[in-house]
Amino acid sequence: MKTSFNRYLEIDLTNQTFRHGQLEENRLRQFLGGKGVGLSLLVEQDRSIDPFDPENPLIFVTGPLTGSLIQTSARSAVVTRSPLTGNFLDSHAGGHFGPALRRAGWDYVSIQGASDLPAYLLITPEGAQFLDATDLWGKDVFETEETLRARHPGSKVAAIGPAGENRVRFAAICTERYRQFGRGGAGAVMGSKRLKAVVAVGTEAIPYADPERFRALSQELLAELQQHPNAKRRYDLGTMMWIRMGQEIGHFLPTHNFRDGQFLAYEGITAETCKRELSWKSVGCYGCSVIRCSKLARWNGREVEGPEYETAAFLGSGCEIGDAKELADANWLCDRYGLDSISTGVAISYAMECAERGLLSPEMNEKLRFGHAEGQQALIEDIAFRRGFGDLLAEGTRLASRVIGQGSEAFAIQCGGMEISGVNPLGCYSMGLNLATADFASHTRFWSATDEMNGNLTLDALPAYIKAGQDEINARNSLIICDFLPFGFDRLAPFMEAVTGFPTDAESLMKAGERIQSLSRLYNLRTGRSHADDTLPERFFSETSFAGLMKGRVIPKLFFEEQVQAIFQLRGWDAEGRPLPETLQRLGLSSSEAQGVPA
Ligand code: SF4
Repeated sequence: MKTSFNRYLEIDLTNQTFRHGQLEENRLRQFLGGKGVGLSLLVEQDRSIDPFDPENPLIFVTGPLTGSLIQTSARSAVVTRSPLTGNFLDSHAGGHFGPALRRAGWDYVSIQGASDLPAYLLITPEGAQFLDATDLWGKDVFETEETLRARHPGSKVAAIGPAGENRVRFAAICTERYRQFGRGGAGAVMGSKRLKAVVAVGTEAIPYADPERFRALSQELLAELQQHPNAKRRYDLGTMMWIRMGQEIGHFLPTHNFRDGQFLAYEGITAETCKRELSWKSVGCYGCSVIRCSKLARWNGREVEGPEYETAAFLGSGCEIGDAKELADANWLCDRYGLDSISTGVAISYAMECAERGLLSPEMNEKLRFGHAEGQQALIEDIAFRRGFGDLLAEGTRLASRVIGQGSEAFAIQCGGMEISGVNPLGCYSMGLNLATADFASHTRFWSATDEMNGNLTLDALPAYIKAGQDEINARNSLIICDFLPFGFDRLAPFMEAVTGFPTDAESLMKAGERIQSLSRLYNLRTGRSHADDTLPERFFSETSFAGLMKGRVIPKLFFEEQVQAIFQLRGWDAEGRPLPETLQRLGLSSSEAQGVPA
């Protein structure tokens, strides 16, 4: 049977050695690739006592569809133990880096240990070269990438900026200037290894078990996609279409640190305004010729890809910044220094609320105000360089709120240490339940907001709906295929079959997604998550919901816990969220995976 490369490269930064091999077939059948295989490698390889321990592996993963002929095949991920949550992280990026890694001959690159001096890695079909990065240390993302691409023609680069070097717990790994493996602090793990960049170059072909079938399937899907209304809408407005929809229809636009679901000045940051004020140009990731949801903004002599909806919702409405150019400036700073713009926005809006309530120093209380872009941008720089109050926020909202105290934990918008993203749960209850029960609290786990906004959900059916949604996204993040490709597993399974040669159907993909969720849960329990983390900040249980399934009500804590328990039951987990022995058996997971999980 032919398979994809399935080749891994294991790099030891401490001793500057590497080894390579091919993963066993069964692992691919069970975990598909991408997130799933990355998780299984992390479970085996991670012996860290802390995310900044050199023993914490940083694993770049692609999926069998990455870089292939199917539309939107650009994505790849980084898997590691997150310094923000202490638990599992898979952070995804589009662009060209994933396909470049496969062209360099590797599907999974696991980096362990730490370098004594700043280093970067050159990945080629021959393996890894360990190169000196002393001249790059301290440089921003833009300059680093420019230098390395000139030094290694034809390469793609994933690099960190000062935020990663300074171990800001939500530092990103950046690629192609404006794209990021953004969530959860993978950039800080890379900084802790004194690894400035990974450069991939090669011309290996992407293998297919049945190239003719794959090509025919791709052409058929392309023709259908060209006529699909969702593709056209995403091309026109990108993810920023959600600013207007969240404001006018859903009433869940995160505003004023999640106190509100509508923002008075929202017109200043809509897709239409950005298109006009920022001279947007549509750009696409590798292999994305139809949807091309990304937008290149050009203004005041600057350019940045975006802003994306999430950036606008947290650096924009969340902080009450209603000016497209000021928002784009903040976005540009995050990209330049290598910060996750979502966590940065949520941490700053939390700090703004603290200042509004007079909980910070007199100077910070004065300087940090909702709607003041200058204070926001100064704080972004202070976070990246860990200066003054920025040093505390660089620890993440959870840890900062523990230090600031004075009741501020209630409006520190994090779950298990991850600043939550997507929408305001006071306007979209299903997303709150989803975020609390996901492996970490990010919109990238499952997007239920469209269905709730359109009135398609009921409270009774929610646990089963959320479980299925999380399983599906796990599998998509393993194939890996972009969330915005508007086709389900009935259409995607044949692609998987044609590329790997394994019999695959929608059911086997969903089961793989379920397996991944149980394994990530075991890993999270082993690394310190407990059932006490499967909840939301107090704000969402004490203020009245303004829209969605809970409109006009305060979410009862007991009811929320009952819904969490219903999801656990459907998964075959006990009341603490521990997968039961029979669940492990049903999913083909070994009982040794449960080692280290508190009884
Ligand atoms: S739809 Fe957008 S995010 Fe997805 S591959 Fe295309 S450009 Fe990239």
